[in-house]
Amino acid sequence: MHSFEYQQGELYCEQVPVSRIAKELGTPCYIYSHETLIRHFHAYESAFKDIPHVIAFAMKANSNLAILRLMAREGSGVDIVSGGELFRALKAGVPASKIVFAGVGKSPDEIRDALKAEILMFNVESPAEIRAINDVAASVGMKARIALRINPDVDPKTHPYISTGMKKSKFGIAADRALQEYKMASSLSHIDVVGVHAHIGSQLTDVTPFVDSLKKVVALIDTLKSHGINIRYLNIGGGLGITYSDEKPPLPQDLAHAISPLVKGLGLTLVMEPGRVIVGNAGILVTKALYEKAGETKHFVIVDAAMNDLIRPSLYGAYHEIRPVNEAAVRRPKQMMDIVGPVCESGDFLAKERSLPNIQPDDLLAIMSAGAYGFVMASNYNSRPRVPEVLVKGAEFHVIRERETYDDLVKGERIPSFLNETE
Ligand code: PLP
Repeated sequence: MHSFEYQQGELYCEQVPVSRIAKELGTPCYIYSHETLIRHFHAYESAFKDIPHVIAFAMKANSNLAILRLMAREGSGVDIVSGGELFRALKAGVPASKIVFAGVGKSPDEIRDALKAEILMFNVESPAEIRAINDVAASVGMKARIALRINPDVDPKTHPYISTGMKKSKFGIAADRALQEYKMASSLSHIDVVGVHAHIGSQLTDVTPFVDSLKKVVALIDTLKSHGINIRYLNIGGGLGITYSDEKPPLPQDLAHAISPLVKGLGLTLVMEPGRVIVGNAGILVTKALYEKAGETKHFVIVDAAMNDLIRPSLYGAYHEIRPVNEAAVRRPKQMMDIVGPVCESGDFLAKERSLPNIQPDDLLAIMSAGAYGFVMASNYNSRPRVPEVLVKGAEFHVIRERETYDDLVKGERIPSFLNETE
């Protein structure tokens, strides 16, 4: 994360002191580095430059309009999973011709909107959905381009909640049923079968599961060909992991190196859906220590960010490195502690049993690697307004989402008139 380094005794994002942003906007807040986003996107782009490809950034990882605009300007498309994501993508200026739509539960309205927008294709997750897309396409007089999402039954060796390509998972169509469903799809009048899709999970730290999955998919493409079904797009999903603590995940170029021999020469366009690897280490969450508390058996530091702002530790037991913003604090004596938030849940923590330098009230802390699946999973639980997001570019910073107000919290709520009546 070399865009987040100590300079002159404090943590900077590019050329802006994190403390300056915290002072102007308050805490908690998310901060993203423009330079890192661009670098990560181009690492992917250049790794695959020898193979015709489309990068469809998995916007579920971070869907702020400014981030999407930035990605689109660099040439990225997006992988969407809802009508809301389609709305955001189009609003941000992502070309519809680079939008792919996955997800097990697309509604007829969402399908219609995506068809009318003329997206590149739907990644279809079940036979029932193939028929539903055909029906909607017929009703609007269009043909829907689809890829079937294949479940290759490969263990990605990641957290079970983010494993998606095993038999027991709700995602995709079992590889041994694929031919039958491809035949069915090809027989439908408003379906144009163009691709195969496989996404096996997230935060993968080894290329082997990608290769194992791809081998099965390439074999399927061959079988389909022999049945007269010609595939044009091969979508390998996202899933490349990042370093949160001491993982050493493959780089995009390692992935490209491992899969090129399998895909080169097939004459297909590769579609890729990286999310975490682009934004994860391009963002931090900044929080302020409020109180220290000596529990019966533990030392707690209570900070102003909570599970509603960053749920990954509570949801997956995820590890995020925590750095004091003031570099001098790094040299304080260390102590075991839990970093917890103000939300009324025992599961509300940002770090557990962590050896960290003694943290004092008012210290600013950076929760590192928080750019992916951070703000997008934030909620208003405990009626906590969602926090601002900031994009740093060189020596400038830009608020790309304002902090919510208390009025925002009750927006759309109504008290029915019978509750106003006096008895
Ligand atoms: N594509 C699909 C279909 C996904 O479900 C996901 C994440 O869950 C992604 C891409 C992005 O994965 P990652 O952020 O690990 O790259």
